[in-house]
Amino acid sequence: MPGEHTALAALCAAPFPPNPTTLKRGSMATVTDPVCGMTVDESAATGSASYEGATYYFCSSACQERFEAEPEMYASGDR
Ligand SMILES: [Zn+2]
Repeated sequence: MPGEHTALAALCAAPFPPNPTTLKRGSMATVTDPVCGMTVDESAATGSASYEGATYYFCSSACQERFEAEPEMYASGDR
């Protein structure tokens, strides 16, 4: 008896476009406070400091002061 399953194969040929919206993560940039490890909104950060060409953001002025006292200690930690 003849088995005809070509109709199912046609369904599998439907295009499957990539979803570009998953690649864009909004316009808000978040950074990590190197002192306390908190995630900080760049625009909401209390302060920022530059060290060796990189800019660091802080959740509070207390964290910024601690960083500026010993920047090499906090900047060396990769996380
Ligand atoms: Zn902090």
